[in-house]
Amino acid sequence: MEENRIPGANKLQPVMIAFKKCKSYDVVELRKKVDALLEPFQNSLKRIRRGDRVLLKPNLLSGHPPEHAVTTHPSFIEAVLQFFINLGAKPIIGDSPSPVFKNPKSLFEVTGWADIGRRYRIPLIYFDKTGWVKKSIRGKDYPIARIIDAVDFVINLPKVKTHNLTILTLGVKNMYGAIPGFKKVTLHRDYPNSVSFSEMNLDIYLLTKPLLTIYDGIIGMEGEGPAAGNPISLGFIAATDCAITGDMFITELLGVKKEKFPLYLAGKRMGIKMERTYKLFGDTLETYERKNIRLPRANQLNYIPPILTRTIGSQIWARPRIITKVCTNCENCIESCPAGAIKRGVIRPYFSYGKCISCFCCIETCPHRAIEIMLSPLVTLSQIL
Ligand code: SF4
Ligand code: SF4
Repeated sequence: MEENRIPGANKLQPVMIAFKKCKSYDVVELRKKVDALLEPFQNSLKRIRRGDRVLLKPNLLSGHPPEHAVTTHPSFIEAVLQFFINLGAKPIIGDSPSPVFKNPKSLFEVTGWADIGRRYRIPLIYFDKTGWVKKSIRGKDYPIARIIDAVDFVINLPKVKTHNLTILTLGVKNMYGAIPGFKKVTLHRDYPNSVSFSEMNLDIYLLTKPLLTIYDGIIGMEGEGPAAGNPISLGFIAATDCAITGDMFITELLGVKKEKFPLYLAGKRMGIKMERTYKLFGDTLETYERKNIRLPRANQLNYIPPILTRTIGSQIWARPRIITKVCTNCENCIESCPAGAIKRGVIRPYFSYGKCISCFCCIETCPHRAIEIMLSPLVTLSQIL
């Protein structure tokens, strides 16, 4: 039963969310803000003893420099790292990107994380190298990176971004990284649509139980996230002891309707209370300039009435398409496709749309942003109307 407990869920106390306006990645400034942000979480932080191993789990989706806003920013990680070193903990940093990236060291370099590792003598862990353990919840088994079990605490450090499949990728989705990369392909195939995929994400979040989730929302991403969108200044950092409630808070902050947010729909289907009472600390929202972020084009599918999907579903789709002049024929997309829907071609790969499950893993792993989404004429029309 303990496995199913929602982090931060205590019937006697509301969830805690701390919010601070923050526009700069200057580490000195950020450290002060992180100190203030985490001040209300003393009860949780008291559990960390001197010498405890604390895993910082940022978002290492693919090899992009910090300014692309694809990965958690190194200055943000550094400020959080300093905080936990100061607490007496022994932090390590790690994640598990897609298995198509054969050389995670190069990802650590390009994202700026390797530099932090060198300067602070902190190990950078590629989860696939640590092995995995089977964990079960709701009668389902999941392979969870062994390192998650081996450390004393996990601190979840998501980047605030849009996502082609799940609309947004926030705290809950970031813990999907606990699945070793080579196992991710299978899970994408087993949970092919946005709501079933989000149910699986909720399971993994509940199994991995981060002590705190701290959001990098200084520069986020809008549009075709998680890898091919545009950076947008969101100007905040936030923290919570329950990423489910924290994610719902941020969803509202970004102007996304909860009824269209797959995580919310998944939680409701699973019987999880997605909107728990929370206590807000830090800056008041009245002084924050809210941004309505541009969502991925595939989000339009969420606005098609179910009656239409049932009756003329074959005309309602969003599919990947290669931008010929940008593609280098590196074949990353072929390897990332859980459905075997991308075939090797002479000049570039081509899609076998009959097999495509619209998971958009190919877009995530394309290093050159050479894949875009095309919508069926009916979905395009619904956008205009
Ligand atoms: S579409 Fe992207 S990932 Fe696929 S072969 Fe071309 S450049 Fe590589
Ligand atoms: S072609 Fe792309 S979107 Fe379609 S199943 Fe393969 S990875 Fe997913």
